[in-house]
Amino acid sequence: MNMVEIIEKKKLGQVLSKNEIEFFVAGAADGSIPDYQLAALLMAIRLNGMTREETTQLTLAMTYSGDVCDLSALDGIPVDKHSTGGVGDTTTLVLAPLVAACGVPVAKMSGRGLGHTGGTLDKLESISGLSIDLSENDFLRQVQEIGVAVIGQTKNLAPADKTLYALRDVTSTVDSMPLIASSIMSKKLASGAQGIVLDVKTGAGALMQTTEKSIELAQAMVRIGCDSGRRVVALVTDMGEPLGSHVGNALEVKEAIDVLAGRVKGPLLTVSLELGARLLMLGGKAECVEEAKQKLTDALESGRGLETLRKMIAAQGGDPSCCDDVGKLPQAVVIRDVPALQDGFVHHMDTIALGNTAQDMGAGRRTKTDVIDPSVGFVLHKRIGQAIKTGEALATVYARDTASAEKAIESIQHCVTISNEMVPPCKLIHAFVTADDVERL
Ligand code: URA
Ligand code: CA
Repeated sequence: MNMVEIIEKKKLGQVLSKNEIEFFVAGAADGSIPDYQLAALLMAIRLNGMTREETTQLTLAMTYSGDVCDLSALDGIPVDKHSTGGVGDTTTLVLAPLVAACGVPVAKMSGRGLGHTGGTLDKLESISGLSIDLSENDFLRQVQEIGVAVIGQTKNLAPADKTLYALRDVTSTVDSMPLIASSIMSKKLASGAQGIVLDVKTGAGALMQTTEKSIELAQAMVRIGCDSGRRVVALVTDMGEPLGSHVGNALEVKEAIDVLAGRVKGPLLTVSLELGARLLMLGGKAECVEEAKQKLTDALESGRGLETLRKMIAAQGGDPSCCDDVGKLPQAVVIRDVPALQDGFVHHMDTIALGNTAQDMGAGRRTKTDVIDPSVGFVLHKRIGQAIKTGEALATVYARDTASAEKAIESIQHCVTISNEMVPPCKLIHAFVTADDVERL
């Protein structure tokens, strides 16, 4: 096969065959096709698009370019949830134990923080001793015994995507619907779950900032999953402001524990129950959303959800006593309130800048080798639409030193716009998306 002819075809807007797609994906994985030809093809795809069939073929070729996790030995239908990335987005730590406690195996491969978004692995590692590096055997055994495991991606997960993503990053071809959808789904399919719920974020802090674009991405990914024989649905949820009030690794673990212990309700719990309900349905343990939410709520109120988290932490080598005493989580040295600079209503949040503020404090990485400080971050006390008075605490920062606290205070004051105009609170769930249908909520 000839790479120049493949580029030529896509340049002219023609449809690539399965063989042609498999050829260039194999060449991306083994390095036999030079970067300049891959880059030219990526730009042709960015400009001319791909059909639904081509997008699925591209995804499957990337999925099988590396290791594929085989979960068939597990009892039940293993499920996974994927978020396109957000700030204060701690739904995994809330819903995974609840769903597992309801009898659906949760076999989850998570990622690290990227840019302004947090990552579940970084959050989990703020628990003393906890390891996210399990062998495939230990991963399977833990899911079989406890019902849930959350681990890092295996090293050889979708290597073709690693090559293509790195090229897209430097050739202005990240923002292509088929390339984004196939990139995300290749890794999800390789992680082996049969039922997948996608949480596609929308708004100021999201990959796609408008509801329409988010729905389009959600449907592209759901279709890839269904055309590949998995059960997949998506919710489009809001990222116009951080989902939970806590931003930062140990702080987000604390919030998840507070929710599972029944001490805290609010948007994080609401969205976790919505996503979790769809997981229970895909896992065959509920017929409808209401029944599923009731089962999850029972698991929460009976303490079975928190007990499952405790077991998961212990199985992965962590100290589970943080589930009973959140004071055992890493604590920041400097704690300061962020006073509001004027009276009014919280009108807007620059969610990306808030995520970057936490990163600057040490909660995320600027470079691959940066070491995360698990204790730092901030807690927001107000959501969009709420009233505030001058000098009232808008947030509290948890910092490693005074200079960092002062910088974060100023930054948060800038990120949150207060105005005299009343605005309604943000809608949390914007749409439910299946392969053939979009239900706007
Ligand atoms: N996340 C991915 O894994 N791939 C993309 O293309 C965009 C976001
Ligand atoms: Ca190369």
